Amino acid sequence: MSVATAEELFVDELKDIYSAEKQAVKAFPRLAKAVQSEELKQAMQDHLEQTKGQVERLDRIFEILEKRSSGKTCEGMKGLVTEAQSQLEEIEKGPVLDCAIIGALQRIEHYEIAAYGTVATLAEAMGQEEVKELLGETLEEEKETDERLTEVAQSVNSEALSEGSEEEGSEEEENGSSSNGSGRRTSSRGSSKTSWKSNASRSSRSGSSRSGQRSGR
Ligand code: FE
Ligand code: FE
Repeated sequence: MSVATAEELFVDELKDIYSAEKQAVKAFPRLAKAVQSEELKQAMQDHLEQTKGQVERLDRIFEILEKRSSGKTCEGMKGLVTEAQSQLEEIEKGPVLDCAIIGALQRIEHYEIAAYGTVATLAEAMGQEEVKELLGETLEEEKETDERLTEVAQSVNSEALSEGSEEEGSEEEENGSSSNGSGRRTSSRGSSKTSWKSNASRSSRSGSSRSGQRSGR
């Protein structure tokens, strides 16, 4: 076993984060290329630059500790990146994909926030002041990025939702012209409202059946 002490665990965790950041730097450009929102693209571009700085910060930390940075693959980040990339295959470019990418990015940021929180706290306990400072700076950047993504999500989400109703609208028009004329438009718009309602009642029904199962056990 390669980790026996808290100090070894600390270095091991740092190697894991180093691998995570390197994976993020690799993955970001492809994800940024796939998004449509300029605001989101800019946020991703900014965080890519920031992430490169975070890698440099980690290089500095390994120097201070006189340890090697290599030797670990962060499996958590690997999974998060795989999930983000699979969205590109499943969703067409547009606001809905942007929503999905924001969700994937925020998962990444939350993962990093947890990881940096852990090592920053350990560094403090170990009396590694300079290392703790450096880790704290990155931790703040990850939190700010998460908040910025939440802000971007507000505009992207509403765009994605209105696009959904536009698409329904154009389908209706196609239906209308190929069959019964404009009279159908109001009725199918009505049915799209009903589908929202039935979605809501479906989820509340499944919610109650789940709690039913729980109490049955
Ligand atoms: Fe990072
Ligand atoms: Fe990050």
